[in-house]
Amino acid sequence: MSTFQAPKGTYDLTPPRSATFLAVREAISAPLRDSGYGYIETPGFENVELFARGVGESTDIVTKEMYTLTTKGGDQLALRPEGTASVLRAALEANLHKAGNLPVKLWYSGSYYRYERPQAGRYRHFSQVGAEAIGTEDPALDAELIILADQAYRSLGLRRFRILLNSLGDKECRPVYREALQTFLRDLDLDEETRRRIEINPLRVLDDKRADVQKQLTDAPKLRDYLCDACKAYHEEVRALLTAAGVAFEDDEKLVRGLDYYTRTTFEFVHDGLGSQSAVGGGGRYDGLSEMIGGPELPSVGWALGVDRTVLALEAESVELDLPATTSVYAVPLGEEARRVLFGVVTELRLAGIAADFAFGGRGLKGAMKSANRSGARYTLVAGERDLAEGVVQLKDMESGEQSAVPLAEAAAELAKRLG
Ligand code: ATP
Ligand code: MG
Repeated sequence: MSTFQAPKGTYDLTPPRSATFLAVREAISAPLRDSGYGYIETPGFENVELFARGVGESTDIVTKEMYTLTTKGGDQLALRPEGTASVLRAALEANLHKAGNLPVKLWYSGSYYRYERPQAGRYRHFSQVGAEAIGTEDPALDAELIILADQAYRSLGLRRFRILLNSLGDKECRPVYREALQTFLRDLDLDEETRRRIEINPLRVLDDKRADVQKQLTDAPKLRDYLCDACKAYHEEVRALLTAAGVAFEDDEKLVRGLDYYTRTTFEFVHDGLGSQSAVGGGGRYDGLSEMIGGPELPSVGWALGVDRTVLALEAESVELDLPATTSVYAVPLGEEARRVLFGVVTELRLAGIAADFAFGGRGLKGAMKSANRSGARYTLVAGERDLAEGVVQLKDMESGEQSAVPLAEAAAELAKRLG
């Protein structure tokens, strides 16, 4: 009989590495939770049309990477490839933007699915923590989000990441640039698919990773030279606020990002220890997205950080997160009677808010103490028949090795006292 394996391009999170993933999600969301962002959760799938319109018909995500399915009832659904379109859809549906409290600030955490060529740092199922600030045009909001992501990465101990920043212009100036770029690109030596891209989404060509393409782009017209005064002033303000906050960034006029909905501010967090999958997170302003999915005009900005790649970045920098042991007390019963009594003590400890675990399965002292060690517990409780006859349990401090007999009835209180 063959055993099953995780589907291609996916992997399981198992202890102990899974604890790092939880800690990363926690660290990325902490600055958001402390800054007025409320938690939002949306379904793992949506009507395929939401992404087709919201992410863009011509994007790689929609044309190549989306998992689509037809339900038994005939609905066309897609596993979500990203978070922004869903979050905006949900916010509109719940009328959050009408509560007179703009911007609507939301954060989320979850699984995303893209049918990609699996490789290091690129999976078909991956995990993001994201943030969206909906309904307000204010450079301070763009700056806030970049600062909070920077703070999150720093709190994890990451150092070798960089922030790339650009402005994509708005509906006034971008079309003018788009045409100038198209005129330039049409004269280059490019393959059929890229030529098609010139007509559908020329900015995306700037994002082409191939060296022979990049070589030809050196003299491409620069978006910066086409930005209208309003976009220029907005971008300068974002840059000034970041600088004032002490957040370093690099201007990257080639940064266009893979989604159609971005306007003005766009940014990417890249890590220098990850090889070609170097983007650990990215985001930007999407002033037109709400209208694209049938909502009112709601200028917004957001980002999504990849949890998987952030963990890889930690590993690349050899950062060991300081994860406290999850168990404080480990109970080792020797014999049937002790099993009943100590299990009772463990339950009592847990009710008192003390993390406790138990040597299940009637194991011998040696094996059980090994598990106690592995659990990282500060204290073990050991009891055999003789202890019970005397009404005590042996309390061992795993750090000092000291052991003393404690009256059974006082064990929980004594532990609570010692653990503070
Ligand atoms: P890339 O250019 O590497 O394909 P992207 O621009 O498609 O990235 P976004 O849509 O901006 O990525 O998603 C935000 C973050 O989510 C990325 O910076 C990355 O950390 C993570 N991410 C995206 N796709 C994947 C994937 N297939 N596997 C793992 N992480 C991913
Ligand atoms: Mg991608």
